[in-house]
Parts: sequence; C-alpha cells; structure tokens
Amino acid sequence: MWQIISGSLLLSLVHAAIPNHWLPIVAVGKSERWTMRETLHATALIGAAHIASTVIIGILIGLAGFQLSSSHAELTHWVAPAVLAVLGVIFIVSDFVGRGHHHHDHFDGARQAKTKRAVIGSMVVAMFFSPCIELEVYFLPAGVFGWRGILVTSAIYLVATVSTMLTLVYIGTKGLSRLNWHIFEHHQKTLTGCILIVLAAVSFLID
Ligand SMILES: [Zn+2]
Repeated sequence: MWQIISGSLLLSLVHAAIPNHWLPIVAVGKSERWTMRETLHATALIGAAHIASTVIIGILIGLAGFQLSSSHAELTHWVAPAVLAVLGVIFIVSDFVGRGHHHHDHFDGARQAKTKRAVIGSMVVAMFFSPCIELEVYFLPAGVFGWRGILVTSAIYLVATVSTMLTLVYIGTKGLSRLNWHIFEHHQKTLTGCILIVLAAVSFLID
C-alpha cells in the first residue's frame, strides 16, 4: 500500500506541474485583473473539476483491476506493471516523435468569454473534459487493493494536484518563477513516461 501512496503522490506532483495545468490560469488572471484571492479560487475549482473526471474514469479502471486481481491473482503480478510500462514507453515515444497532441490546450476559448464567471466556467468545463490518462492508468495497480486503494489514490490526486496547482499559480502570479517552464512543457511526456516505467518496475519487483 505504501507503494500506491508514494506512486500516486509522485504522479500527481509531476502532473500538476505541467505548465498547461496552471500557466493559462496565471495568464487569464493577470489579463482579467483578478485579485490573488480570485485567481486562487478559480484554480481550486479548475483543479477539482479536472481531478473529478480523472477519478470517475479511474474508478472504472480500478474496479477492472480489482476484478482482474480477484479472478486471476497470478496475472496482476505482471499485467498491471506491464500496462504501466507500455504506457510509459508510449509517452516517451510520442514525445520524441512529436506527434502526440499538445496536452490540455483547451483554454483558448476561455479568453473570449466576457464575465469572470463565464471565464472560470469555461476553464472548469475545459479541464473537466480533458482528464489525464497518466493519472488514470495508476488506478489499475491501486485497484488491486479494492475500494481502499481506489479511495486513497483519488484523495491523494485531489489534494496533491490542487495544492500543487495553487502553489504554482501563486508563484506565477507573483512573478517569482524564473524557471524555463517551456523546456519542462516539451519534455513532460518523457518525464511522465519514465516515472510510469519506474513505478512499473517497483511494483513488479515488490510483490
Ligand atoms: Zn491533467
């Protein structure tokens, strides 16, 4: 279980740091002249919506993982790690091939909207309809622990993702960040892929 906890924590921290998850909020907040309080409030709503849809799909994946583990105990020993590893390789390859579509670039419409409520609303909707596959896939090994694993993973995703987004939006809005996020943005798939492969190796070696 500690493995599921640390794995989902690591994934949500890296996932929330992907610039497309928070940089547009900073940009919109600045151009709309929101106060820090308003910007952070919007961030919490947008982050929660994004995790909500990721968790809804994740629960289905987790239940499939549980089903698989209860009927074919020997299969889960390599099926769950294999799925993680294969997905990790796909992420890395798609990064290098460069044909993977840009992750969550659904904010463009948000900038045209007029009122603050409409702007936030359209960003919430955009993030709800782009759940993250790299988070969802981890529900497969978590599902082996049944509802306990699914709930723990969902709670960690929600808390860790939203608080990381809040921190980055705060730093971004204050203009304190001097890091080159662009490099991270272009290689986040490789990073995510490597983490998935490491998690796969760990879960294969530990059981
Ligand atoms: Zn995401």
